[in-house]
Amino acid sequence: MTELIDGNAVAADVRDGLADAIGTLADAGHTPGLATVLMSDDPASQTYVSMKQRDCEEVGIDGTHVELDPEADASELYDTIDELNGDPSVHGILVQMPVPEHVETRRVLRAIDPAKDVDGFHPENVGRLVAGNARYKPCTPHGVQKLLEASDVDPEGKDAVVVGRSDIVGKPMANLLLQKQPGGNATVTVCHSRTKDLAAKTRQADIVVAAAGVPEMLDGSMLSEGVTVIDVGVNRVDVAERSSAGSRTPSDDADTGKGYELVGDVDFESAKEKASAITPVPGGVGPMTRAMLLYNTVKAASEQEGVAVDL
Ligand code: NDP
Repeated sequence: MTELIDGNAVAADVRDGLADAIGTLADAGHTPGLATVLMSDDPASQTYVSMKQRDCEEVGIDGTHVELDPEADASELYDTIDELNGDPSVHGILVQMPVPEHVETRRVLRAIDPAKDVDGFHPENVGRLVAGNARYKPCTPHGVQKLLEASDVDPEGKDAVVVGRSDIVGKPMANLLLQKQPGGNATVTVCHSRTKDLAAKTRQADIVVAAAGVPEMLDGSMLSEGVTVIDVGVNRVDVAERSSAGSRTPSDDADTGKGYELVGDVDFESAKEKASAITPVPGGVGPMTRAMLLYNTVKAASEQEGVAVDL
């Protein structure tokens, strides 16, 4: 039997676990605060930010949202970050990426106080992660670790293949799986667009984490029997094209009313024939990314306020 790893259920457990910590902070007179900053008119970015704000409200985190004109001078964004760095009621700061082209992403990441960098992308926090002393684990790979743990898949001694080497998913994922720590201790191979014979690598894997952003690129023929498959990919594909190609019918997916559906980087149907455990898309990694942002914000509040909490 293939286990379907339910990201919504594990994310709900993470949120429930935060309730006690938020209560402890409240007893000490503190409410965790997360500031989101949006400098974009991209509808997807707007949706992500409003979901993050709604999540905060649901668990009792104070959400602040700052929206900047995408045409504004970059200095407006740096000034906003400076103000938030200095605001004691804000424990975590998240600048929604991507920022406009005239703004230098690296400078934005460096501008955020590392203690408030709940995304974990500041160079100091990246360094700490690599050194095995993470302050904030980046939300998506941390969420994947939690999913593996919840499914009783211990990476120790296993061959893990991460497909993708981005700074936000692939690289930190590979690092976490490699660390000499619980949730790590795997032998890790990182694949990318220049990898020769990807299938030969993924067939060797006990755990595959797919984070390439290419719809359904990994199918069952590229996997070994009993593999654990974590599909990070979120790709919008046109419903009409998909059904005419003989794939799933439009009625299979809740998003079809919008003319598109969400698929992962894994061809779910063929992969599940091989996998012992697999995440769906949607409902796998996505909810975990959101939950781990709340986790990092509560951790940030605990550290900045000097209130010990159980996380
Ligand atoms: P990026 O585009 O930044 O990185 C993609 C990586 O995949 C790159 O390293 C690229 O290689 C590699 N790649 C691309 N095509 C191939 C291929 N054919 N074979 C092997 N490797 C390939 O994407 P992100 O890391 O930001 O995101 C990856 C996916 O995860 C996306 O679908 C994104 O939407 C999703 N995502 C989902 C989240 C969630 O919460 N569920 C959160 C964040 C992302 P190269 O470096 O050589 O270009």
